[in-house]
Amino acid sequence: MRWLITAMLLSGLMAQGVQAQAVSQKPFQIPASERKNTAENPSWTAPQKPFRVYANTWYVGPRGLGVFLITAPTGHVLIDGGVPGDAALIEANIRRLGVHLRDIKWILNTHAHYDHAGDIAQLAHDTGAQVIANEADIPLLERGGLDDPNFGDRFPYAPVRVTRAVTDGERLHLGDLVLTAHATPGHTKGNTTWTWVSCEGKRCLHMVDVGSLSAPGFKLIDNAKYPNIVKDFERSFAMVAALPCDMPLAPHPGMVNFWARVARHAQGDAQALVDPEGCRVYAQQARKNFEAELAKQRAEAATTK
Ligand SMILES: [Zn+2]
Repeated sequence: MRWLITAMLLSGLMAQGVQAQAVSQKPFQIPASERKNTAENPSWTAPQKPFRVYANTWYVGPRGLGVFLITAPTGHVLIDGGVPGDAALIEANIRRLGVHLRDIKWILNTHAHYDHAGDIAQLAHDTGAQVIANEADIPLLERGGLDDPNFGDRFPYAPVRVTRAVTDGERLHLGDLVLTAHATPGHTKGNTTWTWVSCEGKRCLHMVDVGSLSAPGFKLIDNAKYPNIVKDFERSFAMVAALPCDMPLAPHPGMVNFWARVARHAQGDAQALVDPEGCRVYAQQARKNFEAELAKQRAEAATTK
């Protein structure tokens, strides 16, 4: 009997080993659901000339996805990595600024969805940078977006190996750069708003890459995979509204009217990019949309009970 159990255990272990190997060696495949979603959002892959946002903060993403480079003599920081396939465009933008990819020391993530973490694995490989994310998003990043509490397996990406986990309020120091991670969960469990200060001469501005606060098609009631989703969102609206915020930036530029502000800036309005109300206005609008959706789902739940 003992040999039988041992044999069963061994064969189980062997089967697991074979399976693990098969998973790690399987090349990343973009499913039809994701291909369709990317095609329906052409700005996510549309080229955008890189430019200085303010002082040492630069826009290096495609037109429709905020990817930011923060530079310092002691090493640079990149925030987010676009959809799968965007790495080439982001890297070309970074090189165009005269920045060496290998001088990027950290890649931070706002949240573990494929339109912001999609090509972080590639970017980490090409830059040699450490990947840093909120601890609650690490399992989703390491699963490459699979088994998302709201999207299931619809939007995967190449799994990301995270080298450092952060928690709410943690300040990260990279030489002269200081970045703070503010946990703003709800959109994902580890959704993060990153803040830092950029200075031109003596004029220093609070830069904020606001985490997404939308709940597109999310199950807000009885969500077994994310029971605290409503509480988390409510906390995050208040958190973002209260942040010192001179220059709101975002993973989706439209969240904070970024391109309209850039256009006004190009037309000669030197202050157009500065918007101290921007974070609060975004949080308020997001809360309004959220409350409406929550009321709708509560009403639906009441009628089906
Ligand atoms: Zn998202």
